[in-house]
Amino acid sequence: MRELILGHEPAIRVGFFFGVLAVMALWEVAAPRRPATLGRWARWPSNLGIVVLNTVLVRLLLPTTVVALALVGEANGWGLLHQLALPAWVALPLAVIALDLAVYLQHVMVHAVPVLWRLHRVHHADLHFDVTTGARFHPIEILLSMLIKFAAILVIGPSPEAVVVFEVLLNATAMFNHGNVRLPVAVDRWLRWLVVTPDMHRVHHSVEDDETNSNFGFNLPWWDRLFGTYRAQPRGGHEGMTIGIRGWRDPQQVDRLPGMLALPFLGKVTDYVINRRQWARPATGNE
Ligand SMILES: [Zn+2]
Ligand SMILES: [Zn+2]
Repeated sequence: MRELILGHEPAIRVGFFFGVLAVMALWEVAAPRRPATLGRWARWPSNLGIVVLNTVLVRLLLPTTVVALALVGEANGWGLLHQLALPAWVALPLAVIALDLAVYLQHVMVHAVPVLWRLHRVHHADLHFDVTTGARFHPIEILLSMLIKFAAILVIGPSPEAVVVFEVLLNATAMFNHGNVRLPVAVDRWLRWLVVTPDMHRVHHSVEDDETNSNFGFNLPWWDRLFGTYRAQPRGGHEGMTIGIRGWRDPQQVDRLPGMLALPFLGKVTDYVINRRQWARPATGNE
């Protein structure tokens, strides 16, 4: 089993990426949730182009891979799960859940820290929300994510198999929950106890700040409910809500590769979240 998974890891990942992409793209054509703001030809070359760029940069710039690091960690007994020496059928799901929590916390962090939000807003600036939105991240954010994942692997101590399962699962669920697809309301209500659904994650892509700062989960939906960041639906409804970031509405800037790469370096750093100095006054405040 180990040889099968580790020996074919790149093929497994690429296969799942294109498999899920194809299924979601067909589903988006068959049953779209919202009309497209911009056509596929205006967005997909850039959204998929940045994925290719990120893949090359990660290979060139990082000294190791997540799987290689997990193998070294296993050989040396690094990390909590190796210390506990649990049976594999217990350790593997625990590792996947712990890695997912790390990704949730990282996502909250990139919204809260203004400089990191500059990087992460490339993901949010897309004017439409579909399967390719799930893969578009600025290269610097991808490199930062990889370093955080390396640290999480050293602390948590997942097996190499658990790392592959987590990577494939996270990639597949991220493409699923960015899908511009329609699910029956009853199915969505049940499914969002197991996995983040498109209707749940779409709230996170609203231009409204309070909606953007909710539903941070990419894979497991429990963290948002547990940590108080869960929001069931957007105020404007899924068809009425506006996707993207307020003030960044030029397709040349936000949906073309050069504009996307430049986005973190534009504008003031003081216009978001914890740097904001103007708050709505309470209606009955006593000053
Ligand atoms: Zn986000
Ligand atoms: Zn997203």
